[in-house]
Amino acid sequence: MKTVRDYIRTIPDFPHEGILFRDVTTLFADPRGLRLAVDQLLHPYAGAPIDKVVGLEARGFILGGAIAHQLGKGFVPIRKKGKLPGPTIGESYTLEYGEASVEIHNDAIQPGEKILLVDDLLATGGTAEAGIKLIERLGGEILGCAFIIDLPDLGGRDKLVEMGMNIHSLCT
Ligand code: IMP
Repeated sequence: MKTVRDYIRTIPDFPHEGILFRDVTTLFADPRGLRLAVDQLLHPYAGAPIDKVVGLEARGFILGGAIAHQLGKGFVPIRKKGKLPGPTIGESYTLEYGEASVEIHNDAIQPGEKILLVDDLLATGGTAEAGIKLIERLGGEILGCAFIIDLPDLGGRDKLVEMGMNIHSLCT
């Protein structure tokens, strides 16, 4: 039986020389792989009172949409700056070279709503941290952060745990 890890391929030197890019498009493209990933991401949250699923651009949209549909809940995107049409709030964070900003519609989450945050991969945690701050600024309560891949050496897991987050990942 193939595991989630078996469906993920590694592309060397993308997007820069020396980077090993973990490519989940091969996981998403396989019907068993996609179902396995969604089921396993949801497993620890069985019975949890999740109100909304929030996904981080862009692969978090694919996963988050599937997870929200499975739960019968709504999906909320966190997008790169300038992409959302309505009024937004934003958070900036540091990248290896420079800065990035992400945004959420300011009416996408109601105070007290219970949120599951999803993305494909946790590396330094900068993207997820910015997402967590946006959700919390809107009054959302994050029940968990779910990732297919965790690269613990890059420190993201420790950073999110320090923020009090519950982290679930399928492979490291
Ligand atoms: P972080 O902000 O350093 O934790 O990086 C995580 C973000 O970068 C996520 O939104 C990922 O989709 C993306 N990312 C970084 N490295 C990879 C990779 O090897 N494969 C897929 N996505 C990656």
